[in-house]
Amino acid sequence: MLNSTVNMRILLLLINIFAIHVFARLVISSGSSLERHGERGNHGKITTWPVNQDKNSVVYYCFANKESSEKLSRGVRNGWKTWYAKIGQPGVENGHTLKAIDSSEGKDNGYCWTDEKSKQWNSKVFGNETLVIKVYGDDAIGGESSVGFTPAEVDSSAGRHSMTMGAEASDWDFAHEWGHVFGLLHEHQRPDRDDYVNFTCENMYGYEESWKRAEKGKISKEDFCSKAVSSRPFGFQSDQFAKGAEFSLEIDGVHSKAYDWDSIMHYTSDIFGDPAKMEDHPKDASYFPLSRLDKAGDVARRIIPAAKSYPDLKVSDGDKEAIQAMYGWGG
Ligand SMILES: [Zn+2]
Repeated sequence: MLNSTVNMRILLLLINIFAIHVFARLVISSGSSLERHGERGNHGKITTWPVNQDKNSVVYYCFANKESSEKLSRGVRNGWKTWYAKIGQPGVENGHTLKAIDSSEGKDNGYCWTDEKSKQWNSKVFGNETLVIKVYGDDAIGGESSVGFTPAEVDSSAGRHSMTMGAEASDWDFAHEWGHVFGLLHEHQRPDRDDYVNFTCENMYGYEESWKRAEKGKISKEDFCSKAVSSRPFGFQSDQFAKGAEFSLEIDGVHSKAYDWDSIMHYTSDIFGDPAKMEDHPKDASYFPLSRLDKAGDVARRIIPAAKSYPDLKVSDGDKEAIQAMYGWGG
């Protein structure tokens, strides 16, 4: 059973090899989690969401189907409200152009696809660039999203912008995935992160079994603990903690300037952790995958606390700065 003091993330393994997406589910308890983004980076340019004639950068979104709307509407809204509470309206006083709008709200606009199976886009209502929001699983937590905006000259297909969320995703999951949609990357993957956090690969859930299989496949420990290509085939997701992003955005300000443990884009200590280890030592950071260092090389580590729920959940000052850097008003 899950210990309520530790917000444990049980893994859904997303194996992405040669653009074939295989969903393999590892059930160890009542949930599973998904988190993967950035595959667009392999195809070329990613930018910020464009500015319209009103000087607003609007992320319009629709729901893939009725089930997705029913299960996710509230979470999607709360995720955006969490951002809005910090960044406010687009305009000169808040220094940014960004907003998100539910394109299906208030009218009988239907869903993104008129026929989802045959991928018939609801083109009378939604532009091809509209963000598609879709539910995954009955008890899954976490989410995965496309990062930033992919311009039509790179890919103009409907559905290229997406946010797929577990049916049991938390408010943090939604706010975090919105951050990726806006173009933000993981704070804990910054190139300078080793000065601020400790990553212990061995504390990730499933480490022992996956490493045994990887070792037989002649994978080095270093690669297994940092690369998607060397970990995901063995049911492991160490690349979620890899230093430096595996893809690049042609935009500035994807991280806040000062290292920001409070960023909504920073994993908390427990994410992808081994529930057994964390339950036995809930206050000892050395049993968690990620822990905070007060200075470079610090041996005393601290737990980065599990996220709160809406409306107590907050995006940080640094997150707001990053949005202002990317979506500057009049910039
Ligand atoms: Zn993420």
